[in-house]
Amino acid sequence: MSFSQLGLSAEILRAIADQGYDTPTPIQAQAIPVVLAGRDLMAAAQTGTGKTAGFTLPILQLLTTRPAVSRARPRVLVLTPTRELAAQVEESVRTYGRHLPMKSLAIFGGVGLVPQIKALKAGVDILVATPGRLLDHLNQRNADLSGVEILVLDEADRMLDMGFIPDIRKILALLPKQRQTLFFSATFSDDIRALAAGFLRDPQLVEVASRNATADKVVQRVYHVDKARKRDLLIQLIKEHNWHQVLVFTRTKHGANTLAEKLEGAGIRSAAIHGNKSQGARTKALADFKSLKLHALVATDIAARGLDIDQLPHVVNYELPNVPEDYVHRIGRTARAGASGEAASLVCVDEHGLLRDIERLLKRDIEKVAVPGFEPDPSIRAEPIENGRRGQSRPSAGSRGGQRNPGGNRGQPSRGNGGGASRQNATSHHSGFRGR
Ligand code: AMP
Repeated sequence: MSFSQLGLSAEILRAIADQGYDTPTPIQAQAIPVVLAGRDLMAAAQTGTGKTAGFTLPILQLLTTRPAVSRARPRVLVLTPTRELAAQVEESVRTYGRHLPMKSLAIFGGVGLVPQIKALKAGVDILVATPGRLLDHLNQRNADLSGVEILVLDEADRMLDMGFIPDIRKILALLPKQRQTLFFSATFSDDIRALAAGFLRDPQLVEVASRNATADKVVQRVYHVDKARKRDLLIQLIKEHNWHQVLVFTRTKHGANTLAEKLEGAGIRSAAIHGNKSQGARTKALADFKSLKLHALVATDIAARGLDIDQLPHVVNYELPNVPEDYVHRIGRTARAGASGEAASLVCVDEHGLLRDIERLLKRDIEKVAVPGFEPDPSIRAEPIENGRRGQSRPSAGSRGGQRNPGGNRGQPSRGNGGGASRQNATSHHSGFRGR
């Protein structure tokens, strides 16, 4: 199968060739014909499968073939859970639409409203937005969604977990009933299916390689090490193997800051990226990391979500995530679109239960590597894991599953500081990261 067989225009094929892609990924091969046929789509695909082009390419094609009724109103709305993802999707729209006269715009919180208002007024064909900031604009009547022909819900599972569904329902009420809806989610839980059933009309289902299959492309290793020695081990691994681009996950924002400083102190160019950082600082850190000015980027799960970094060679779990699925999301940062990658997890005695949960989800054991000089001290006993400022702790050994929603507030609007942020065990106040 080649892109030219999919019914895309010469301009779009040229933009694809500019990117150096020659073969559609499985999600692209399956989703593009469905979208071009005007059908609603329910796609199970996670980041790294090429899903963004999977919806962007046929949308651009549909817009070029259908004459615009008005330039003043957006014809396409893409909703994403995070600012970074909104920025990246919009960048993809620009990349694939570079030979077309299409205008696109990303709007998200954390940056000024005024430039966004100006850009909205100037006319936009494709609007990519996080729900909170979009609602702000809608309340101020800065945007008119009555001309939307195609709606995309990207990473719907994350939007559900982050408590965005009430906002999304409000936004959907302002869209025309007659429209095409494309729904992307990494997982198809019962909640997600119920949500999709309310939004979609006779959708075509598309499912590509399961999450576990993606994880299988990544070389995974566990290093058993005492908590207090993780930092030294990480520094040694980075230096010894000359890792030049490492995404390191920590559980808390504070942990991310501290670790980035220590790595920097050891001569490894590093920055932290999390919800308390300004949008400018986050964008700069990401750009420096991509251009290899920084060798390590230390991130929390929410901050790393949707980061589009091509063929990232190394991911390190400095701390294991509380939710086993997040492990798969994390290591999915490597091995993107066919490339292979390596994921190292530094596991201390407190985290043995979390490791067992992850191995159960993967349905296999992860290779254990012993580094001489870093053998764990068998006399150290497991302690509960502290999960951030609220001091929530999780039983360590032998624990089951993840406390996905300790506050029991799934689906509730949660605009205030920290409320409703379920994904990280209500650890941290990622209100600053909620697309406002
Ligand atoms: P996504 O899943 O949309 O985040 O895309 C993952 C990565 O794959 C992005 O960096 C894309 O640039 C890249 N990509 C998308 N489609 C293709 C393709 N057909 N061939 C090679 N790389 C691709």
